[in-house]
Amino acid sequence: MKYYDKLIFELSKTGRRGYTLPACKWEDGLDGIPENLKRNHAPELPEVSEPDTVRHYVNLSNMNFGVDTGFYPLGSCTMKYNPRINEEMASHPGFSGLHPLQPAETVRGAMELYRILSDALCAVTGMSAFTLNPFAGAHGELTGLMIMRQYHFSKGDTKRTKIIVPDSAHGTNPASAAVCGLEVVQVKSTANGTVDVNDLKPLLDDTVAGIMMTNPNTLGLFESEISEIADLVHAAGGLLYYDGANMNALLGKVRPGDMGFDIMHLNLHKTFSTPHGGGGPGAGPVGVAGFLREYLPYPSVGADVSGGYTWAKGSHTAGRISGFHGNFGVLIKAYAYILMLGRQNVKNAGPYAVLAANYIKESLKDCYKLPIGSVCKHEFVFDGLADAPEGVTTLDVAKRLLDYGFHAPTIYFPLLFHQSIMIEPTETESVETLDAFIEAMRKIAGEAAENPEILKSAPHNTPVSRPDETQAAVHPILKYRRQS
Ligand SMILES: *Cc1c(COP(=O)(O)O)cnc(C)c1O
Repeated sequence: MKYYDKLIFELSKTGRRGYTLPACKWEDGLDGIPENLKRNHAPELPEVSEPDTVRHYVNLSNMNFGVDTGFYPLGSCTMKYNPRINEEMASHPGFSGLHPLQPAETVRGAMELYRILSDALCAVTGMSAFTLNPFAGAHGELTGLMIMRQYHFSKGDTKRTKIIVPDSAHGTNPASAAVCGLEVVQVKSTANGTVDVNDLKPLLDDTVAGIMMTNPNTLGLFESEISEIADLVHAAGGLLYYDGANMNALLGKVRPGDMGFDIMHLNLHKTFSTPHGGGGPGAGPVGVAGFLREYLPYPSVGADVSGGYTWAKGSHTAGRISGFHGNFGVLIKAYAYILMLGRQNVKNAGPYAVLAANYIKESLKDCYKLPIGSVCKHEFVFDGLADAPEGVTTLDVAKRLLDYGFHAPTIYFPLLFHQSIMIEPTETESVETLDAFIEAMRKIAGEAAENPEILKSAPHNTPVSRPDETQAAVHPILKYRRQS
């Protein structure tokens, strides 16, 4: 352990001061404060110099790991690099100084950005209209399902309360459906990892509101039967919902609107770059086909008679899903990112993300078990080590990767395999970074065979080794505890 990794209380020396306040001007400064509110002994604060304090906090911040410190191949999360220009745009005082209750005529610039970004998202996805109000992917799912339910209900079709969700879906899909009051029906995957059309057919009847699909799905595979699935679901009177959190892989190549989807969300914080994690900040805009435009939540931005903008509300609106107009800062960042890339480079993002994922997959498939070997999109899943010695698990591989300075991939998800390792490199990494990661993964496979103990006891170089992950989440220790 390095000296400054110590807790600040452990650096404390009695009587040492970093800063001294001038003596109190009022002799009787505490007069008037009720007796029961006064301390009867001085607070126990660490007594440290200013340099020790600065070093303590800077070192503490360095214990964190982020996309700005290293490669972060967390499958399903699209941890791409977030260009600094986005931050500069979002913190422009003309945006950051706005208040959501200002009259519309004083926020025309912001409303224009809302409209232009919506139009750009329509162009990228093939949908007809977008709401930018939802705060996250899961929130977008809920919004989209509310629109779906509202659509059926407004036609008097109240029997449609079931939603079909593939077994490979992201956990938020069934959760959002349940929050929306819909009954989740699971459809199985084939051995190739895509939706089993034969399993789907008997599920389709007049109680089905629709199907939620992710394409490419959570295994990183393109749902090749999507046209047939769209026809089947539509013929049964249901709608198709597209979980577009993985849109990164398809940017500029194919559009959900053209595949037959009626409603979708995008994760701007993934595909269009915003620092995210630990619950935010995000943006999960929802797009709809033309016939659902009037069902979008309000407020949305409409045109007013004088060529300006006005806050609008659709005639069949599914309601209000956020206090105001969404996470506006994230919308600005997404727009800045799209402008920075330009039309041509937006089209390159997907292919490069796909290339990077396939490069890693092919380079490691002799050491790690690859249950589905076809060409993947932006991510893929290994099922643990190819030759795992007794007792060496995916968790051990993930922990050992930390010693090599990489963030671990997503592990034990998706649930289709017991030892899942889900890798998503994104398009923003150099081939040298990918090679360094591949080399570390190969070394770990070698270590597992020769010296499994080094994996079982990893990580060896991090401030904390193996916390009890459940307890750490449920009962986090956030205060200094004196060692007795
Ligand atoms: C990340 C993700 C979500 C959830 O998005 P949040 O912004 O975390 O709510 C939903 N579906 C898929 C496929 C995802 O990858």
